[in-house]
Amino acid sequence: MGDSTGPSSSVASLACDSPRGRNGHPGRTALVASSATGRPGMIVVAIIVLTCAVVMVFCAVDQRRRRVAERNWRTSMEPLLRNSSGYPADWQRRRALVWIRAHGRCELCLRRIGRLSCGHDEIWVLPPEEHLLFGAQVHHIQHRLRGGDHSMENLRLICDQCHAAEHPGNQNLRELAAASRAKASRRRGHRWGTATSGGVTQRRRWAH
Ligand SMILES: [Zn+2]
Ligand SMILES: [Zn+2]
Repeated sequence: MGDSTGPSSSVASLACDSPRGRNGHPGRTALVASSATGRPGMIVVAIIVLTCAVVMVFCAVDQRRRRVAERNWRTSMEPLLRNSSGYPADWQRRRALVWIRAHGRCELCLRRIGRLSCGHDEIWVLPPEEHLLFGAQVHHIQHRLRGGDHSMENLRLICDQCHAAEHPGNQNLRELAAASRAKASRRRGHRWGTATSGGVTQRRRWAH
């Protein structure tokens, strides 16, 4: 009854091109199968494209947020707090940045030290007081007692041993250095101690 030149005619021609059934009818099964596999495939592709777009937008916004936070810190917070009388509120952030700048090596003996508990970029979205650097110390090149400030230029990454040598009168740093040596020794699987026998100091080793 309908016009044979409309979309229904193209469907009919498709049906005619498809294999015929047992009774000679056009292959409806083939048509249904092709539409059934084509539509879900397009939906999956659309979902993937949409997901990629959302992820890209999210990453761009996140990167911008980090760049703005870094710029704000460098232009306002860092100069403002560098002359704090005690340790500044962003001291932990400064320590983490010093570690990154030094590529995780003591700037005196070049030994690898410390680790960060976050990715380099994450520093800017974490609170400035959050403790991020472990296993390394940060030293004021010009000591605080001699008027040195907390600016990044006056800070250097330093290991326990070198730090104790920089502050020979600091008992806490000496103890930290000794504890660090003992820990490193244990990690190697042996611990060295001293024992006095007959007035002669001997080195003694025992395995763990
Ligand atoms: Zn060192
Ligand atoms: Zn120091």
